[in-house]
Amino acid sequence: MQMGVLSELEPKSVFHYFEEITKIPHGSGNVERISDYLADFARRRGLFYVQDQWKNVIIVKEATPGYEKEPPVILQGHMDMVAVKKPDCDIDMKTEGLRVAVRGDEIRAEGTSLGGDDGIAVAYMLALLDSDSVRHPKLEMVITVDEEVGMDGARAIDLSLLTGSRMINLDSEDEGIFLTSCAGGARADCRLRLAVEEKKGMLVEMTLGGLQGGHSGGEIHRERGNSNCLMGRLLCNLTGKMPVRLCGLEGGLADNAIPRETKAEVLVETEDLELFREIAGGTAAELREELSEKDPGVCLQVKEKGLRQTACITPEDTGRAAAFLWALPNGVQAMSADMPGLVETSLNLGILKLNGIGSGRESADLQAGFSVRSSVESAKRALMEKLRAVTQLAGGETVFSGDYPGWKYRKDSPLREKMIAVYEKRYGHKPRVEAIHAGLECGILGSKIRDLDCVSMGPQMHQIHTTEETLSVSSARRVWEYLVELLETKDGL
Ligand SMILES: [Zn+2]
Repeated sequence: MQMGVLSELEPKSVFHYFEEITKIPHGSGNVERISDYLADFARRRGLFYVQDQWKNVIIVKEATPGYEKEPPVILQGHMDMVAVKKPDCDIDMKTEGLRVAVRGDEIRAEGTSLGGDDGIAVAYMLALLDSDSVRHPKLEMVITVDEEVGMDGARAIDLSLLTGSRMINLDSEDEGIFLTSCAGGARADCRLRLAVEEKKGMLVEMTLGGLQGGHSGGEIHRERGNSNCLMGRLLCNLTGKMPVRLCGLEGGLADNAIPRETKAEVLVETEDLELFREIAGGTAAELREELSEKDPGVCLQVKEKGLRQTACITPEDTGRAAAFLWALPNGVQAMSADMPGLVETSLNLGILKLNGIGSGRESADLQAGFSVRSSVESAKRALMEKLRAVTQLAGGETVFSGDYPGWKYRKDSPLREKMIAVYEKRYGHKPRVEAIHAGLECGILGSKIRDLDCVSMGPQMHQIHTTEETLSVSSARRVWEYLVELLETKDGL
């Protein structure tokens, strides 16, 4: 057997399987080989397994002697990874393995993401399945596909064969923090049809940018500037004072990223140019002042591009679009009553686009794309209804997609209590018990498991989803030892 890069690391079995996984390309949407590897692993050991049509894999290992009466434990993680590489990296991540390296306490992959998220979960599960020394109750391993691109595997998987109701999700990346609740979410696509005309005037390009952005789950409570909303405010200020005609509008990259820059092109009548500059300059100064602490880089660039005859949105409909954009709710809507500092309900206007404008067209479509989140299902529904209501008032329509349920904090949780007790015994202090305002598969899977009692945990990783991703060797070892002790500890001891 060839020596692996990680073969000196302890626990040997965990790092052996982790390295095996890094040799198999397994970016989201490219999971066939890793899924077959897992199915093959189970088959060769005579373990009961299911590989479904989406390539999700469930593997079952019966209790070791003396543990037959203990409640079964579901272990869960995802087999896909975010596959990203540096521009100068020559690895084809669709067909080639990663170049894993160890530096000090950190494992990384040269030129690419590592996939510690969530490869380490799969490695733990394989090491447990392979072990004949760890004592444990019945284990039900659920390894999903395509978590990173909308949790498609978790949505599709059939869990009716599971007998357990206690689940440990291994998709967290902060050692010492147990997650006990996550937000549910949905995408909302609000669309307005706007009337187009041909007109001559000064074409002005306005770029509102310099903002910090961030993930709409993790950073929404910081109240950074959202360039799409702020552009709505600027357009609203302008259209209240003069006829303005929208020619183009584009901002943001994804519904779940707080947009950092939005560009608008407008046609302004030459006699209004003086006033236009005054209002734009005034709004820019207001924003700099208001955001001086929360998002100090905000800036507005205005470029007059010359007189043009062009297709544009009528002043009435530009005013309607501007009012719509500025009236739409955005940002934190409610904070949690159970967990201090946790956002309960929020939304992010991540994508803004004007589609289909051109000569000879009668209308164009304004598209505003939101990510809606809440850990309270009814609050999520109510916010979705609010978006629909505001869009309807403006004469538009809303389409929802990618709806997934949240994972509600469970006041009475035998699994959590046991995990805290074992943790405290090992480390002499309590773990942090937290909730996150982002999605985990636990919400979707929880809707398919009766009376689910779930905790999410994992070893320390940094910069996941980037080419700088690292996994801590010592943390991965501690979490493994903790997991083994947890499984070996019988209820009530
Ligand atoms: Zn993950």
